[in-house]
Amino acid sequence: MELIERKLQADKIASLYQEIGYDSYANRMSECARFARFVEKTFWVPEYDYYDQNKLIDVHESELEYRLTDAIFCRVRLCPICQWRKSKRWQALALKNLPFIQEEYPHHRWLFLTLTIKNCRLSRLRNQVIRLNKSFLKWVKWKSFPADGWIKSLEVTLDESDPTLCHPHFHVLLMVPGDYFDNKEEYLTQPDWVDSWRKAAKLNYDPVVDIRAVKQGKEAQIIPELLKYGVKPDDLAEVTSQQLKLLTNQLHRIHAINKGGLLRGCFKDVGSDNIDLIGSGNEGMLTGYQLYFVWQQSHKSYIENLYKDQELIGSLTINQNVLDSNTELFYSLD
Ligand SMILES: [Zn+2]
Repeated sequence: MELIERKLQADKIASLYQEIGYDSYANRMSECARFARFVEKTFWVPEYDYYDQNKLIDVHESELEYRLTDAIFCRVRLCPICQWRKSKRWQALALKNLPFIQEEYPHHRWLFLTLTIKNCRLSRLRNQVIRLNKSFLKWVKWKSFPADGWIKSLEVTLDESDPTLCHPHFHVLLMVPGDYFDNKEEYLTQPDWVDSWRKAAKLNYDPVVDIRAVKQGKEAQIIPELLKYGVKPDDLAEVTSQQLKLLTNQLHRIHAINKGGLLRGCFKDVGSDNIDLIGSGNEGMLTGYQLYFVWQQSHKSYIENLYKDQELIGSLTINQNVLDSNTELFYSLD
């Protein structure tokens, strides 16, 4: 179950924060999602029912399913739980907004662009990102830049072989005029994109650039790719305290998502750090059976204590073995 996995990662990062003396982050993160409330899906009326953002568990071969409906989050930038919730919520909001944008611009087509530079030192990440952002903002104003609107996200991956290096890159969804593919004046081939980004970012080498047209009708499928984690949870899971310190300092107050052109005012709240991380807008409709779980460090899982006549009679655990077998989770009585 993703929440358990993220909670374990968060605990690990919290102890690294402790190690480097970032006590406030450490404390906040170890409290993150310590309490979690779930409700039976049967009674859940999802805000965005086409996107299964809050899916928690399926009881084996039955209709019963529980959803996360309440938890308190730490909102530390590199918290794996908060990053996960944020990206899911941004994705849900983007998917909700997308049909309205397509209705407003029915003749536009979409491109998915990935812009990279060579690996840079982690200690220079901030400067690099600020520089690239500036280059990008100038670039989109060039006459030869074909898009009318864009939404861009920053992703940073770590170098596996050298802990001092990282790889910042941008994923960009571009909205181009409907005749872009037939317009010889405007159409850019892949080498054209490389050349153009090389000039815009003032690089002295050919950067790796991936450009693909999003198939009509498949636009929604690109959203998770665009709005995924800022730093991969797998990378964070392996991070050293020194890398964490650098990542934290270097990414402080750097925006993950930017929008511009015709899309400037679209995709409302996508990229907002203050976004509600559950998306339980229909709280009043939750009338199903509710379960309150508390994170138990010793069990490395969420546990609900069961009482009868105020006496503890057992506890309900989210079953780890099922997690290992990679099937959906169900509850088991200890
Ligand atoms: Zn958190």
